[in-house]
Formats: sequence, structure tokens, C-alpha cells
Amino acid sequence: MARDSVDSHEIVIVPEAEIAGLVDANASFEAVEAIFAAMARRDAYNFPVIREAIGHAEALYGFKSGFDRAGLALGLKSGGYWPGNMERGLTNHQSTVVLFDADTGRPKALVGGNLLTALRTAAASAVSIKHLARKDSRVLGMLGAGHQSAFQMRAAAAQRDFEKVVGWNYHPEMLPRLADTAAELGLPFEAVSLEELGAQSDVIITITSSFEPQLMDSFVTAGTHIACMGTDTIGKQEVEPALVARARVFTDEVAQSVTLGEAQHAVGAGLKAEADIVEIGAVINGDDPGRTSEQEVTLFDGTGVGLQDLAVAEKAVSLALERGVATRVPF
Ligand code: NAD
Repeated sequence: MARDSVDSHEIVIVPEAEIAGLVDANASFEAVEAIFAAMARRDAYNFPVIREAIGHAEALYGFKSGFDRAGLALGLKSGGYWPGNMERGLTNHQSTVVLFDADTGRPKALVGGNLLTALRTAAASAVSIKHLARKDSRVLGMLGAGHQSAFQMRAAAAQRDFEKVVGWNYHPEMLPRLADTAAELGLPFEAVSLEELGAQSDVIITITSSFEPQLMDSFVTAGTHIACMGTDTIGKQEVEPALVARARVFTDEVAQSVTLGEAQHAVGAGLKAEADIVEIGAVINGDDPGRTSEQEVTLFDGTGVGLQDLAVAEKAVSLALERGVATRVPF
């Protein structure tokens, strides 16, 4: 039995606690960039998302799944939000990835999905920055200071020579997370108003659970790239629809962008046509030019797809096997 493959009578388990030692921001970036490209080539596709209030423990439970015909990643991420978990010493957001052998349908691996979710979400906005932000971007604006924001900032910082981070948050008491993360990256941090954030930033990441627009069109200057990462549900909203209308809009998956992503509002109001929203994978594959001028505002609507989860989970499994640290269980 080869050390780096899975026997047909066993599954591999990669527990949550092992993920940090296996998958980093670079590995996540590579996996997510490749899967976005595969989606645009129609080699990979996502199945419809299920998300339900289950009427127990106030939980929201669901699953995201898909298949990558080229990389043969098949499986699902399941989990959701349990608001009472904090009192039990557990994370409120819970997720686990199950991978299957695409040739036989046998289960192949069970992978902790909590850290992977943060890494794959940060990787998505970083991919958008690589392909869409102006090369001379110097100021990074962070709108949001929750759990995901630190991952977002770290992944973004690897894509451009940022000299400064500016930030705003609805709950100002959370701003130290942004200051600490910027310090870890060796970047100065300034807490600013939303107007000032728009005026100073070359790249803006929005990562909040807001249901109302925070960033207004008039705040944003020409040439800015915005990665809208918080809106992943019907009704959520982070930016003014006029900003989406003004920008050249890119997304992970158009169907999600117009229904539950940031573009749902501008498209719903007739300010943006669905046909004008471009898959980021088309830019990665060279089939779309991406940014067409230094003055253009580009906006990435990162809605979060199951294939991102499968891609980083596959990476975790292959690294665990490669390093001989995979737990194999007869199954
Ligand atoms: P968190 O609970 O740790 O932080 C929430 C953030 O939203 C904080 O900055 C908070 O101040 C802000 N916020 C809360 N209420 C607000 C309001 N009424 N108006 C404006 N801001 C408000 O959450 P997190 O884990 O950092 O996740 C942030 C968002 O990202 C969530 O909405 C989550 O669903 C979303 N998310 C998206 C993806 C994706 O793939 N696109 C993946 C994971 C999480």
C-alpha cells in the first residue's frame, strides 16, 4: 500500500486540529485559483445549495457540493451555524468536508472544514486581487473586523505591495483585530471613516454580515478594486447598488451572484444585467480581459461555492498523505 494513496478499504481522516499544520494561504490560493479556472472551462460544477433553519438549537444547517471532472474532486461540505455553541466552548460555525472516490463512489476522506472555510474564502478575494486590482495598488481598505477579516487581510497582502491598511467596522471595539493583523504583516494601520476608507483605498475588502449597504458609490474613487465577500445569503448587502452598477463585476458563480451574492440587489433593481457579470475563471483562463483601464472600478462578488471547499480539502488530504501524517481508518 503506497504511503500517498488511499486503499479501497479505508478512509482518511484529517481532523480540524491538523489543518493548520498542513494547508496555508499559498496552498489555498493555488487550489482556489485552479478550481475557478476549471469552473469557467465547465470542467467543474456546483450542485444546488441546501441551507435550512432546522427548528432545533436555533441552527442553520446545510450542504454545498460539486464535482471537478478534471481534478476528480467529488464531495460535499456540510454544517452551518449553531448560535449556542460559544457557551459550550465550541465555534458557532461548524463544517466538515466528505470526499468521495469519483471512480467508485466510495468515501475517501473526512476533513475538518472550519479553518479551511476561512482559508478558501480569503483565497477567493486574493485571486480577484491578483487578476483585477491595479498593479500599483498601495492602500488596502478593510470593511469588517470579524473572524474572517484577519484571513482576508493576510491573503490580500501577498498579492500587492501594500504600504498601509485602513479599516472601518460597524462595531468599533473589534478594530484591534485589524490593527493586530496589520502589525503582524508589518503594515501601518489607521482606523478611518467609511468616506475616508473609500477615498484612500486602492483595494477594498468587505467582509461583514450586514443587511444594509455600508460602502456608498460616492465614497469609492476611480480605479479601485472591491472584493465583496460578506454577502452569501438572500437579503445580505454590503455596498450601494449604484456601486455595483458602476463597476465591471466579476464573480465565482453567476447564478449565486445574482440570487444570494452582492449583485442580487443591483440586478433585482434592474441596474445591472446578469449577462454583464463575468466569471473570474474566464479572466484566469485568459478568455476575458478583466480590468480594461486604470480608471475602471472592478468588483468581485465572492459568494462562496462548494468546489472551493472540495479543492482545499483535497489539498489537505494529499498533503497529509504525502507527509505520512494521515489517519487511516478501515471502512
Ligand atoms: P463575524 O461574526 O466574526 O463578524 C461579523 C462582522 O460583521 C463584524 O465585522 C461585525 O462588526 C459586522 N457586522 C455585524 N452586524 C453588522 C451590521 N448590522 N452592519 C454592518 N456590519 C455588521 O463573521 P465572519 O466569520 O467574519 O464572517 C463575516 C461574513 O462573511 C458573514 O456574513 C459570513 O456569512 C460571510 N462569509 C462569506 C463567505 C464567502 O464565501 N463569501 C465565507 C465565509 C463567511
